[in-house]
Amino acid sequence: MKRSPPSFPLIFGLVSALFLLGTARPALSQTPKIAVLPDNPRLGEPLTVALTGYPVKTALPHREFRAVLKDGNGRRLSQALFFEFADVNPPLFTALLTLPSTTGADFASIDVEDRGALIVSAPINIQKREFIRETIELDQNLSDIRAKPDPLKAREAAQLWAILSHTGTDIWAADAFIPPIKSTRRTGFFGDRRIFRYADGSTDTSIHAGIDYGVPTGTEVGASASGKVVLARLRIVTGYSVVVEHLPGVYSLYYHLSRIDVSEGSMVKQGGRLGLSGATGLATGPHLHWEIRVSGENTDPDALIARPLLDKNAILSKLYGISP
Ligand SMILES: [Zn+2]
Repeated sequence: MKRSPPSFPLIFGLVSALFLLGTARPALSQTPKIAVLPDNPRLGEPLTVALTGYPVKTALPHREFRAVLKDGNGRRLSQALFFEFADVNPPLFTALLTLPSTTGADFASIDVEDRGALIVSAPINIQKREFIRETIELDQNLSDIRAKPDPLKAREAAQLWAILSHTGTDIWAADAFIPPIKSTRRTGFFGDRRIFRYADGSTDTSIHAGIDYGVPTGTEVGASASGKVVLARLRIVTGYSVVVEHLPGVYSLYYHLSRIDVSEGSMVKQGGRLGLSGATGLATGPHLHWEIRVSGENTDPDALIARPLLDKNAILSKLYGISP
């Protein structure tokens, strides 16, 4: 006897059953799961927060769906918006934020908040570190650049903040960063606690936001990662300045240049020339000031050289406890 082919209702039934199984699978993992990389971060380090098993209903980034870093007393230290990352099932969301160098606590937590509701939380053990203390003498001209009230300076600061506080959607650079300059001669370090002594003898304090390379004017400066040039212009305090966007909320900044070779809106490749170093703006000598911002916060640039912020294998292995 010849076997007849399976009937249409049988095939339809099988397909529907498979379809139901397929759609049912995410429901099994509806418990939100969170992973924070790296383990035991140092002060100033960026944190990658990964979230899965949570049904997100709005387009991301959304200002009410975020990862918030809090100290033991519930005080907010920094925060970042989630964006969709990687084509995986169930969907994976990531937020990039920074453990501020000023954090005094030993422990903190990352809370995932959606429209004010706490979704899931993860504890953070903080690694202490020491920062250099130094005093910098400013002559009358530099004292004026730093301290004299100036409406243009205020406008420039507001304009820069509007750029740095923006979380986009583009992932231009998933790899680790590289230094922007070949020289390893550093004259200023991330997190240096500085006292500025003005020409009139008064003082002010600040925390150094990036790394200074003491190089002669005219040294080639390259992009530390691929991205889009979002600022390329002369500013009062930072001289000829370039800002490149790399990831949602992640920017690199290059200050005091003698010349800019890119324009706003153009794309750059990792290592691609941005301009030449110099001593424009508030500079006591020729150097390149290199700075990284992650969700608005100053971040230790060396931490981005050491580890890519969006390492899919590392994230999945931390979330699911499997080795890549
Ligand atoms: Zn600097």
